[in-house]
Amino acid sequence: NRQKVLAVQAFPYGDNRKLVLTQDITELERTDSMRRDFVANVSHELKTPLTVLSGFLETMRELPLSEADRARYLDIMAQQAARMQIIVNDLLVLAKLEGDAKPPVEHMIDMPNLLRHLRDDALGLSSGKHTIEMEADDGLTVVGAENELMSALGNLVSNAVRYTPEGGKITIRWRDTGDGAVFSVTDTGIGIPAEHIPRLTERFYRVDRSRSRDTGGTGLGLAIVKHVLQRHDALLQVKSEEGRGSEFAVRFAAARTFRDKVAAAKAI
Ligand code: ADP
Repeated sequence: NRQKVLAVQAFPYGDNRKLVLTQDITELERTDSMRRDFVANVSHELKTPLTVLSGFLETMRELPLSEADRARYLDIMAQQAARMQIIVNDLLVLAKLEGDAKPPVEHMIDMPNLLRHLRDDALGLSSGKHTIEMEADDGLTVVGAENELMSALGNLVSNAVRYTPEGGKITIRWRDTGDGAVFSVTDTGIGIPAEHIPRLTERFYRVDRSRSRDTGGTGLGLAIVKHVLQRHDALLQVKSEEGRGSEFAVRFAAARTFRDKVAAAKAI
């Protein structure tokens, strides 16, 4: 797939001569093909719930139904409509992130507090099926857009819950590794085969489509995470072993993390 794409144009030039212009359009072709893939993916993702929805609508219109069936059908339809709403919402979040060059207003973020929120959300999502622990370094601050980071880091935590079977353990950490401040989520879940890891942040990329859908995933979560982290000069590192678990770590640039609150305030 490394072949170059060249556009060639020939113009008459003098007597029986031609001027030939070649232009390297490899990059243009690549972004164009990515855009086509993206449109195809969006259409496919929306088509499935839409087909279910119109199928049930049709049935309800054509057939006499018992009260119980009617209620059941309406439930299914509501679920499919909600699914479409989540997909469209994630797409809008992604479009907004890709459009804005700079993150919105930045703050000094109280990370231990943010981690406590993440842990509480995870406890809600897990409904008692997992052990969830957190460790946070109290004195370590990061400067950034709190809502964006909350949603990106929250995505990593909810993935850990969604891809970890009952009885598993999830640990959320915020610490100074000696080599920078790192937020991490470790799980004892299903893990990810090595060949999939480099592609996880592509839009709609999933290791197992049906599992992702069953747990309410859109395949857009990590694409959103990637954009938010880019805007915060942070790096996502993934370690995983199939069948054993995964670790998603976010390493912040030194220029954004502080021990000293006065220095952090000055950086905003
Ligand atoms: P989804 O909405 O499908 O979860 P994401 O973009 O959040 O989409 O993640 C992409 C894919 O990465 C998922 O479909 C799943 O296959 C894999 N994945 C993400 N986090 C984990 C995890 N903690 N354990 C195992 N697989 C994961």
